[in-house]
Amino acid sequence: MNDPDAVVIGAGPNGLVAANRLADAGMSVLVCEQHPTRVGGACATEDGADAGTRAGCKHDVGAGFFPFNRASPAFRALELERWGLAWARGEVESCHPAPDGSSAAISRDDDATALSLGAHDGDAWRRLMAWHRRVEPALIDALLSPLPGLASKLRLLPFDLFRFARIALATPAGFSRRLFRSDAARRIVPGLGLHVDVGPDDLFGAALGYFLATTAATGGNAVPVGGAGALTGAMARRLEERGGVVRLGARVERIVMDGRRAAAVVLADGVEIATPRVLADTGAPALFLKLLPEAVVPRRVRRAMGRFRRGWGAFKVDWVLDGPVPWKSGEARRAAVVHAGDHIDDLRRFTAESRGGAIPRHPYLVIGQQSLLDRTRAPEGLHTLWAYSRVPPQVEGGWAGHRQAFADAIDARIEGLAPGFGARVVARRVVAPPDLEAFDPNLVGGDLGGGSNHWTNQLVFRPVFPYFRYATPARGVFLASSYAHPGAGVHGMCGWNAAGEALRRAG
Ligand SMILES: Cc1cc2nc3c(=O)[nH]c(=O)nc-3n(C[C@H](O)[C@H](O)[C@H](O)COP(=O)(O)OP(=O)(O)OC[C@H]3O[C@@H](n4cnc5c(N)ncnc54)[C@H](O)[C@@H]3O)c2cc1C
Repeated sequence: MNDPDAVVIGAGPNGLVAANRLADAGMSVLVCEQHPTRVGGACATEDGADAGTRAGCKHDVGAGFFPFNRASPAFRALELERWGLAWARGEVESCHPAPDGSSAAISRDDDATALSLGAHDGDAWRRLMAWHRRVEPALIDALLSPLPGLASKLRLLPFDLFRFARIALATPAGFSRRLFRSDAARRIVPGLGLHVDVGPDDLFGAALGYFLATTAATGGNAVPVGGAGALTGAMARRLEERGGVVRLGARVERIVMDGRRAAAVVLADGVEIATPRVLADTGAPALFLKLLPEAVVPRRVRRAMGRFRRGWGAFKVDWVLDGPVPWKSGEARRAAVVHAGDHIDDLRRFTAESRGGAIPRHPYLVIGQQSLLDRTRAPEGLHTLWAYSRVPPQVEGGWAGHRQAFADAIDARIEGLAPGFGARVVARRVVAPPDLEAFDPNLVGGDLGGGSNHWTNQLVFRPVFPYFRYATPARGVFLASSYAHPGAGVHGMCGWNAAGEALRRAG
């Protein structure tokens, strides 16, 4: 390829979406990905032969479930199904069991969810979903599009805006108490908030749990057939068909400027590639403090990046089992995702421990049963299981000395919900925060959210005011990763919006 019109740094979902949008507009695009063998960043799949479990088992290295599969404007525009992407869905989307065998479960069928939640809470769910299904398209558009996104907000009635504001301003525990009566239903939203670093009592924290609960009911926790990597693989194939190039093993070390304008990128092996446009699917601190020359980044921005608020770490385990997990809860046996968090106080204790730097004693878990939905994930007779907990990024003495003991605590927690689980384990692979960062430098300390999801890191503060619209102080350089609005999750909208801004500026 001659000097490309744009270089995208990083082939994560956001980088690949950005590259596709630029290629669709007729630009020549080169994607430089540091990983030596695969695209996808934290949305990729590894075979058990490489992961050290069992050959033929497919383990998602990061993201496993995709509630934005239908709702994301970027995914709709790319039509990845034409490049081989197929979705598999479960019967139950999200199950929240307790050791006593009780559970609350969300399905795409509101009546099934209502039945699971019981009379009062079931009615409350039906009423909420009747409203949510009506406003979801405008709400999602308003939240995923570039800020301030006024046009889409104006499609909502004042009453709807007020109702959503009441949800968004609440704490997860407060919202749950207001809506539900039973302990089982009340653990749903605070449990979902802990996908990122939002604790049950965090102000403005309910919105994320609310969205994960409602999109589980509308889009469902779908999985790509063949693994999460099938999604990013389809993006890469689509790009290459449009003349784009993905170069693996190509770490970008720095961006060269011509005055205040982007002029080139330099790879770790010293190769320099001239380009007038760079879209960085990288961490915001990495872009502002390492890739860009000091002279083009205002001192205030450098200071803000120096104290950038990161999310907690993630600690992940993959298993190969010789049968499905023997959950006590019948709903959990049919669920795409199961959450371990007994009640709000349990989640509070977990939050205090993680936030305080201690290894949690009774780990909260997000548990994915991909092979129940998609039988291509494991050879006949075997199943895969995927789970993560949230932990401090660093612990005293380092993670090396704690990883097996913490993985054992995770096993024990699942055993409490599913007696006989341990006997089904054929192989286990443990992935501590430093392992996540080792394969994807955006996951600093195992932070899976592109920085903290605390309100001080959101909207116009993401990643730093006033650079919340993807452009940076360096002309021709854009932040395209989940460190930009709208943040974590595989929806591709950070990359989509960044490419939109780059195209707008290119005229
Ligand atoms: C354990 C875990 C579980 C998760 N579960 C879910 C889930 O179920 N559902 C969901 O929606 N989301 C989930 N997520 C979050 C989701 O994976 C991320 O939000 C998403 O991948 C962010 O996409 P991205 O493109 O911004 O960044 P990334 O996916 O991190 O990709 C960034 C890419 O850039 C590359 N890169 C970085 N710096 C350079 C450089 N200097 N030169 C070249 N290449 C570079 C990296 O190698 C990487 O490939 C999970 C994440 C983790 C870690």
